[in-house]
Amino acid sequence: MSSDDLLLASVNNAESREVGGVRLDISRAGTGRVKRLIYPAGFRWSRNMKPIVGTEYCMHAHVGFLARGQIHIEYPDGCRLEFTAPQVIAIEPGHDGWVVGDQAAVVIEFDFERETAQRCGMPEIHRHG
Ligand SMILES: [Zn+2]
Repeated sequence: MSSDDLLLASVNNAESREVGGVRLDISRAGTGRVKRLIYPAGFRWSRNMKPIVGTEYCMHAHVGFLARGQIHIEYPDGCRLEFTAPQVIAIEPGHDGWVVGDQAAVVIEFDFERETAQRCGMPEIHRHG
């Protein structure tokens, strides 16, 4: 993908892939990774990603920066989060989520693969107390 819009342009030195309509550009950074994710308008995890991943909810922790767009997150206990760019995101594992409105959501995310929640001080699954 090439674009005059640098937020959407190919990321230098990154590995690119596409999963469930989401474009990922992934780079190693220390023991972790930094990713640029582009979630298209209309994306919903439970519709677009759940059939691929096979879990009931998204079990990733998401920590980073929403650079463009708007996303809505719901946990199965009814807790909801709304993020509107520019805004930092911190989303615990065990959620559904979707893009709000007609603009793609662009997220810069930091992860430690399976250890992201633990290393960011989050529970392994959304809960209270
Ligand atoms: Zn909750």
